Amino acid sequence: MSGTVLVTVPLLNETLEPPPRGRVRALKRHLIQSLRDLRAAKRPDRLIQKAAPEPVGFTAAVLGAGCATCQGHCCKGGGDHAFIDERTMARTRRDNPDLDARAVIGLYLARLAPRSYKSSCLFHGSDGCTLGRALRAELCNAYYCNGLQDFLKLSEMPERVQIIATRKGIERRSTVMSRPDAHQ
Ligand code: SF4
Ligand code: SF4
Repeated sequence: MSGTVLVTVPLLNETLEPPPRGRVRALKRHLIQSLRDLRAAKRPDRLIQKAAPEPVGFTAAVLGAGCATCQGHCCKGGGDHAFIDERTMARTRRDNPDLDARAVIGLYLARLAPRSYKSSCLFHGSDGCTLGRALRAELCNAYYCNGLQDFLKLSEMPERVQIIATRKGIERRSTVMSRPDAHQ
């Protein structure tokens, strides 16, 4: 596909702040409850969700640029829970068999963004998510907003892509990205 394809995503236009103590306490309570829910499960291993495939190559570059230009509008939904639940904890405990419950909570709290976007997830820092795929809820790893989904559904990979992030009359554009094998 020749020409430049425009991918439109939302835009977060927020300031950063240190994590408010009350919100950190709420997150900690949520993590404790998620571990309790896991303990109550009859077959914890069955709670582990199939991992979403990690994008690679030019696709990964476009998706990464999309989220970077948008600055993480969807992460506002992460609130004081980051979408973490017993299914996330089942995977984390499987991956960290030597850690007890207190250490698992410590693992998460150590990843809090030093400064996160106001009213957004506490792991939502200036450079994106501070949690990393291994500790994140599967929902976060698998989610793409409509604009990125439309890009993923294209029948042919475009030669060039530009991201347009827009909201309430404000617009931010990425540089034009070229597919590595595209003719210049
Ligand atoms: S998935 Fe969409 S809304 Fe979420 S950060 Fe990426 S571009 Fe923004
Ligand atoms: S855990 Fe990361 S990806 Fe998920 S909502 Fe929070 S900042 Fe966004």
